[in-house]
Amino acid sequence: MQGSSRRHPMMNGYVVTGVRQGEIRELPVPVPKDDEVILEVKAAGLCGTDAHIFAGEYFGEFPLVPGHEFAGVVWAVGKNVKRFHAGDRVTADPNIACGYCSFCQESMENFCENFQAVGVTRHGALAQYVAVPQQNVFPIGDIPFVEAAFIEPLACVVYGQKRARPPMGSNVLVVGAGAIGLLHVQLAKMNGAAAIAVLDTASEPLALAKSLGATHCVENSPEGREALGQEFPDGFQLVIDCTGIPSVVESLLPWVRSGGTLLVFGVCPQDSSMSVNPYEIFRRDLTILGSFALKKTFPEASALLEAGSIDVKPLITRRLTLDAVPAALADFAAGHLKGKSMVVF
Ligand SMILES: [Zn+2]
Ligand SMILES: [Zn+2]
Repeated sequence: MQGSSRRHPMMNGYVVTGVRQGEIRELPVPVPKDDEVILEVKAAGLCGTDAHIFAGEYFGEFPLVPGHEFAGVVWAVGKNVKRFHAGDRVTADPNIACGYCSFCQESMENFCENFQAVGVTRHGALAQYVAVPQQNVFPIGDIPFVEAAFIEPLACVVYGQKRARPPMGSNVLVVGAGAIGLLHVQLAKMNGAAAIAVLDTASEPLALAKSLGATHCVENSPEGREALGQEFPDGFQLVIDCTGIPSVVESLLPWVRSGGTLLVFGVCPQDSSMSVNPYEIFRRDLTILGSFALKKTFPEASALLEAGSIDVKPLITRRLTLDAVPAALADFAAGHLKGKSMVVF
């Protein structure tokens, strides 16, 4: 018999429909597969990765709902999900590893050959509801939703600094004082850095960096760099790029102290290139280190937030509603949006 079918519940979501094209659309609310949890999204951060996806520079097949930094409430669960129940306050690691490829077998899940990610290769959290596998879901206790949405980026920063960790008492240079740079500043301080210098082209984020523990906040200008060079003639044990600008990354090796590390953290365009002096790497024992996404660092990141060891509240420069996302993401991709924009539902 026809006609008795109930209309499937619908939701609003932001959809990237093509390169530099996106709009709010009505979409079906996802139905949980047996091992999935459906979250009602309460907060979702906009990330540089979302801007890269929008610009057609990063993974992504369209149409796609982006959004991989989020927190919310469990709305529905699949039949195999026993650990979570409707109403639970949670976040989720967006990175989905297969568990059986050779990289997964060697605990290198972030290189999974069958890598999937919520908001990158499948629909994400810039919508009222999002589906995630239960093994990716983490409880957030009493952490406010807008702060819990920082667990993902913080987990990436934790992973990067675990890989790059310099000796206690080191000097660290953070280049770029956006939300990621400011997380690096706070974590470097916790990891025992003596001096933490920050370079940025704008003065406002530099003032914020100072209040979050940076010791030297310097405008990234010829004069500023000159002054910083005089203060640290031997350079820094750890230099962290948080700009994702190839010409900036290219300029950073001279800032690395002999024996030190350059951590390439910001996401440069996939087809970019830069030149380095291989003799300098050889002669000065330099390490150039990458850091892709995160690896099992969600529990550490949420513990740091829950304990109040890392302060993310001042990093939120703008709160917006879903309706404002199309304009905001276009601005972001054009480089007009600084700091962390947080979508609240
Ligand atoms: Zn992100
Ligand atoms: Zn795998």
